[in-house]
Amino acid sequence: MTLTSRCPRCHHALDEGPILYRCAHCQRTIWAADLDVEHHAPAPMSAA
Ligand SMILES: [Zn+2]
Repeated sequence: MTLTSRCPRCHHALDEGPILYRCAHCQRTIWAADLDVEHHAPAPMSAA
């Protein structure tokens, strides 16, 4: 399976990884942990 991570800023595909990614477009380094935060938006704790 191929999971392409994208830059949270410009949405270009990221190089390297899987721990530390680099965006060739905006020359930014993005930690996988940061991407994880981006992808998993804090779900509101809906108490029943
Ligand atoms: Zn970028």
